[in-house]
Amino acid sequence: MTMVRKHIVVAGTNFAGYTAALELKEMLGDEHDISVISPTHEFLFYPSLIWFPFGLRDVKDITFDVRPIYHAHGIKFIEERITHFDLANRRAHLAHGEPLSYDYLVIATGFTTDYDYVPGLREHTYSIIGIAQATRTREAWRQFLEHPGPAAVVSVQGTGCFGAAYEFLFNMRYQLAKHHLREQTSLTYITAEPYPAHFGIGGFGNAQKMCEMLFKFYHIHSHFNVSVKAFEPDGVLLEHGEKIPSVFTVAIPRFLGAECVRNTPGLGNAMGFIEVGDDYRHKQYPEVYVVGAAVDVKPPGETNVPCGVPKTGYPSEQMAKIAAKNIVADIKQLPKRYTESFADMNALCIMDTGNMGMMIVGDHMLSPREHEFIIPGPEAHWAKVAFEKYFLWSRKHAIV
Ligand SMILES: Cc1cc2nc3c(=O)[nH]c(=O)nc-3n(C[C@H](O)[C@H](O)[C@H](O)COP(=O)(O)OP(=O)(O)OC[C@H]3O[C@@H](n4cnc5c(N)ncnc54)[C@H](O)[C@@H]3O)c2cc1C
Repeated sequence: MTMVRKHIVVAGTNFAGYTAALELKEMLGDEHDISVISPTHEFLFYPSLIWFPFGLRDVKDITFDVRPIYHAHGIKFIEERITHFDLANRRAHLAHGEPLSYDYLVIATGFTTDYDYVPGLREHTYSIIGIAQATRTREAWRQFLEHPGPAAVVSVQGTGCFGAAYEFLFNMRYQLAKHHLREQTSLTYITAEPYPAHFGIGGFGNAQKMCEMLFKFYHIHSHFNVSVKAFEPDGVLLEHGEKIPSVFTVAIPRFLGAECVRNTPGLGNAMGFIEVGDDYRHKQYPEVYVVGAAVDVKPPGETNVPCGVPKTGYPSEQMAKIAAKNIVADIKQLPKRYTESFADMNALCIMDTGNMGMMIVGDHMLSPREHEFIIPGPEAHWAKVAFEKYFLWSRKHAIV
């Protein structure tokens, strides 16, 4: 029996999309067609953006071109922005060019950043979510070194990327000490989290104690459980009226799903994230799979101030592998379905503090966990640097 040739379209080419495309190719060979669509051919290793504003990394150090890898593997790459999906007719509509039909669709379009839900957020803060933003922050950091003063790092209400905020905060502390500017500056962490190292997931092992110790040791002021009312040129106005002085404010705002998801009725929720089962298949459209940061993950518990769940790199790639296996099972009409919930995936992360850090290792992303370890020390910093090198080397060699 000859199998009908299927066309699988992967939308997005970072952690989740890149993994999905290569996994599908590995399992399906040349019997089916795989196309990847993304407005950029650069893979961006987001974790290293915490070092970018300090001049410790450049664009070439943390990105690579996916095109030669796709070419070598017989995967078609289309450098285009998807405007929306026509789910009923199974088409991806592009900003320029003809719509692309699919038999299966993998949505791996990640997140965009919402800079407009708090007054002054766009105008009076800096960010590290993307190369353009981190470049602007690098310039502001240079000026801050010349005119030091109070500074703040803010995990704004609704965000889900607390780890990067802590990393930037501690790295900034380290850099200020290196520049002998700690006396001329003050550093404040402002966050929606109810307590230190809550991370939007109800905490992790003894990370709270570790963070409290670091805050004390490094004289970092902190405000937990707070919403920001407005960002101003000279400070951060909290919802309850207190104003925290800051002339250099780095904020991690909330995320939204990609615009092409928000433009497609019936695909995602109001924030543009997409609900799926533990097999990463869309509930209404069985030929649509969703992986990575595009997936809707509900917070494990309520917090006074809204906190999102961090959808990190490792689970993004895991979801892609599960979805790829299920697409292969669909095509080959195999009975087996692969499932693993986000909550049950391993938690593997390194939080860098400049010259030290903590390794965060657990058997599950969300509680309850049987094993959860925080391993602090200078080796964590070097492990993060080594992981960056390994990750980029392996992905450039199509190892996912
Ligand atoms: C500053 C920072 C630090 C981080 N640090 C860590 C860390 O230390 N460890 C960790 O595990 N995770 C970290 N993360 C989280 C990690 O970056 C995410 O888990 C990961 O990027 C999610 O991958 P993704 O492929 O799902 O989405 P993304 O990385 O957002 O990729 C989305 C892809 O979709 C494409 N796309 C978007 N819109 C369209 C469209 N309309 N049409 C076609 N394609 C489109 C984009 O071009 C991109 O290729 C960090 C994130 C940030 C912002």
